[in-house]
Amino acid sequence: MDEGKGEGEDQSERNGGKKNEWGEKYSRQIILPEIGLEGQRRINEAKVAIVGLGALGSVAAELLVRAGVGNLILIDRDVIEDSNLPRQALYVEEDVGKSKVMAAKKRLQEINSRVKLEEYAIHLNYRNINLLQQADIVLDCTDNLKTRFLINEYCKKEKKKWIYAATIKTKGYVMSIFPSGPCVECFLSEKVGETCDTSGVVNTITFSIAGLQVTEALKIIVGKEVESRLYYYDIWQPEMRQLQIPKNKNCLACQGEFRYLRGDDQESMIKFCSSGRYQILGKKVDLYVMRERWKMIGPVVDEGVALHFKNIILFADGRVLIKAKSEEEARGTYSKWVGN
Ligand SMILES: [Zn+2]
Repeated sequence: MDEGKGEGEDQSERNGGKKNEWGEKYSRQIILPEIGLEGQRRINEAKVAIVGLGALGSVAAELLVRAGVGNLILIDRDVIEDSNLPRQALYVEEDVGKSKVMAAKKRLQEINSRVKLEEYAIHLNYRNINLLQQADIVLDCTDNLKTRFLINEYCKKEKKKWIYAATIKTKGYVMSIFPSGPCVECFLSEKVGETCDTSGVVNTITFSIAGLQVTEALKIIVGKEVESRLYYYDIWQPEMRQLQIPKNKNCLACQGEFRYLRGDDQESMIKFCSSGRYQILGKKVDLYVMRERWKMIGPVVDEGVALHFKNIILFADGRVLIKAKSEEEARGTYSKWVGN
């Protein structure tokens, strides 16, 4: 409402009387007592990792970059589908079929050219999770419990702050999780045989939950005392609740028993619920060699981080995404075109 109110004032007044290195850009955040110039400096120096660049992650990444967060680590294993576009703010129609990290990086760099981005088109697992080491805060924007529990254990072990977020239908959850406090395994358990029954989601809840998650991140970054509470929001009612989660004395992660970090549950094939693609974790390959081989058979699109050929997307770490009707068909496609 009062966006235009400060038009007549001079710049120093609007920036709280202090000159800063960004000019007018962050003036509306700097005059906000909750942030201030010192807070903005902390935001600018922060390094945030975002795991998953889907409905939550794409919105969270955009908000962080617009707020001036200086460094982002972007992690996603999937490509953009037409059915993502109603929610996934960073992508447009011509991005369909591209890797999310690559499309996100391009768009985020256009929004804020100063932000430093590191992108990883990988399936986060117990072998590569150490790349979260450099992050001040980790945002969980994943759509599956396995990755969530892996992050939970890693952050518990490495004493890192992270923010859990999840949405379903018209509802969503957010919780800031600290090393010595309750964790997600204290109140969530992995359902046996999680299926891909998609239940639908309204885009306003994913935007709202990402907004709440990023607000928690900004509060932590500027040094505000943040409580570890589970926030629940049903946007259709609308109804918001705060729940105090106690530490569960039977929680294995809280007792230092890290099953996911040991890789006990590593599966060589998984079906992505969001895209219906099968992921096979294969051996590391030389993308150049594969590209030359496939080019003799048919058209190949080289995205830098991945090759697209027929119904196959091959990443440099040997990971393959295959669009198929069944696990058998996916395995068949894999052995025919990629090898065993
Ligand atoms: Zn716990």
